[in-house]
Amino acid sequence: MTPAQTVEWRDGAPHSPRFNDIYHSCAGGLAQARLVFMQGCGLPQAWARQPQWRVLETGFGLGLNFLATWQAWKDDPQRPALLHFASIEAHPVEATDLLRSAQDQPELAALAQELSLQWRDLGPGCHRMSFEGGRVLLTLCVGDVQPMLRELVFYADSVFLDGFSPTLNPDMWDEHTIKAVSRLCRRGTRVATWTVARDIRDRLTQCGFALQMVAGLPPKRDRLEGEFNPAWEPKVRTGAIPLALRAGHCVVIGSGLAGAAVAASLARRGWRVDVLDAGSEPAAGASGLPAGLVVPHISLDDAVLSRLSRAGVSMTWQQVHRLLREGQDFALSGVRERRLDDGAPDLWHPVAGWIKPAQLVKALLAQPGVTWRGDMQVQSLRRQDETWQALDAQGRLLAQAPRLVVCAGFGSQALLPHALALQALRGQLSWAWRGAGDDDAFPDTPVNGNGNFIPQVPTDSGMAWYLGSSFERDSTDTRSRDSDHISNYAKLQTLLPGTAQALAPTFEQNQLQSFTAVRCTAPDRLPVVGPLDENQLPGLWLSTAMGARGLTLALLCGELLAAQWHGEPWPVERKLAAALAPQRHSLKRKPSV
Ligand SMILES: Cc1cc2nc3c(=O)[nH]c(=O)nc-3n(C[C@H](O)[C@H](O)[C@H](O)COP(=O)(O)OP(=O)(O)OC[C@H]3O[C@@H](n4cnc5c(N)ncnc54)[C@H](O)[C@@H]3O)c2cc1C
Repeated sequence: MTPAQTVEWRDGAPHSPRFNDIYHSCAGGLAQARLVFMQGCGLPQAWARQPQWRVLETGFGLGLNFLATWQAWKDDPQRPALLHFASIEAHPVEATDLLRSAQDQPELAALAQELSLQWRDLGPGCHRMSFEGGRVLLTLCVGDVQPMLRELVFYADSVFLDGFSPTLNPDMWDEHTIKAVSRLCRRGTRVATWTVARDIRDRLTQCGFALQMVAGLPPKRDRLEGEFNPAWEPKVRTGAIPLALRAGHCVVIGSGLAGAAVAASLARRGWRVDVLDAGSEPAAGASGLPAGLVVPHISLDDAVLSRLSRAGVSMTWQQVHRLLREGQDFALSGVRERRLDDGAPDLWHPVAGWIKPAQLVKALLAQPGVTWRGDMQVQSLRRQDETWQALDAQGRLLAQAPRLVVCAGFGSQALLPHALALQALRGQLSWAWRGAGDDDAFPDTPVNGNGNFIPQVPTDSGMAWYLGSSFERDSTDTRSRDSDHISNYAKLQTLLPGTAQALAPTFEQNQLQSFTAVRCTAPDRLPVVGPLDENQLPGLWLSTAMGARGLTLALLCGELLAAQWHGEPWPVERKLAAALAPQRHSLKRKPSV
């Protein structure tokens, strides 16, 4: 983890020892945010009544520009429905410094408080923070400015060029940075900065920005504002930035966590979403799990799955806190991870715990704009007159829309047999009610490692414990099996021997309940999120193959898909998103339906 950047407070002004420069003067931070950046980019007028607005900033610093933009959004009756703020920061400060920097601005202090609550675990990469019920989204990209700009994929509407002085932090302002910024601009994107240095003006002009010097914030005489309006036609990198869509009508197949998450993310952006499911209740598949863990995946080489899982854990808890009842539907209890294979000391994951996924599915489907339709077994998909049609076994039309997203877990394979290579992975969870004497033998918090054990979850009929889970490849049999209880118990014996001993009579007398379902995995164990083939099969997308980690990954995948449709900043780096694309090497088959 990158150590937090030290801020020295000198006579009330924040100073960076690393760059030997001030972040902003004592009273000047907010004024600079409002005059130089907001006004310089024509805000708030420019965003009036837009479905969304995307700000790109090159240096987050103490976050005053973000807080001022957020506050202006809150105060504006004509605000855009969604405000995205993507900002790069190589050296994030401590949360306490964010708070201190905003403390003299009463209108920002409460927002800084909210920001500080999500300001944690800021290692290299993109971090999504969500405010105002998901309508103000901060994507903080931790890393050097040039590589991080290359990881971003969206069209900015406003660019705030900020950072320490060009003489003290030249990389922030050199031609490669300006060029990378220009690649994220559409014609008409406004740019603003406090510096009017000659070489920076020249670089901006060479990259296609038309600039003006206007009266600056004293003591500075001038500041710079302008617009991206190159004399040439800007290059659109193939496949990198899809054209932003207008929200319309869309069909989602599958109402597990993956489908519900896609539906909610699209509905928040104004889509009308019909969600079809074969089941008579939502969460009829693996997401009907009574309780499961949301916990980061750890690997020595910090593999793609580990990085994705961190982003997913953070997004899941943000939404779970907003949508579910703490203590009843989830507990952010922390999770102890036992390192049984390598004999290493246990790991403690503080931002981890259990959730009831079916409750989350219901809450996501209850968002305005989402219509759930049960008992709808989709047999086939057909493209006709620029719409996608979902048909039943008799060939009757169940639903149609210009865009369709397949989120049917392992059922996705049968719907797209020639395009996918997904595998079924049957799993059984063993559970029972807690007994009077269990307290002494049970851990206080969930434990994972070889399987996992969740010691107490409230249900309508009392307190329950859950022991997961078995894994059987290529089986779709959802009948409960005693042999799976036995294999779960064997895992418990290594995971928590004392607990296993206390539960021996329950297993011997088979006083157990079970939950059995089929997970869906891709050959490389990563989710499949993206268009199947936008050239040949336009409008057909997927979010599936959540494997054994759907509780952690499904919401992130839903947001990624919606961001891709709308040309918004993605919640993860370009490289991570590419690892999930349906066209990735390991899945390549001829795309057809
Ligand atoms: C025993 C067990 C324990 C687990 N424990 C954990 C855990 O602790 N943590 C974790 O993160 N994950 C866990 N998982 C994995 C997690 O449950 C899944 O990754 C996640 O629920 C997958 O969600 P999904 O929406 O992709 O699929 P599902 O929830 O399976 O949803 C797919 C939906 O599509 C519908 N459908 C399928 N085909 C069609 C069709 N043709 N027409 C219409 N509808 C269709 C189904 O009815 C179903 O409702 C566990 C899974 C199991 C089985």
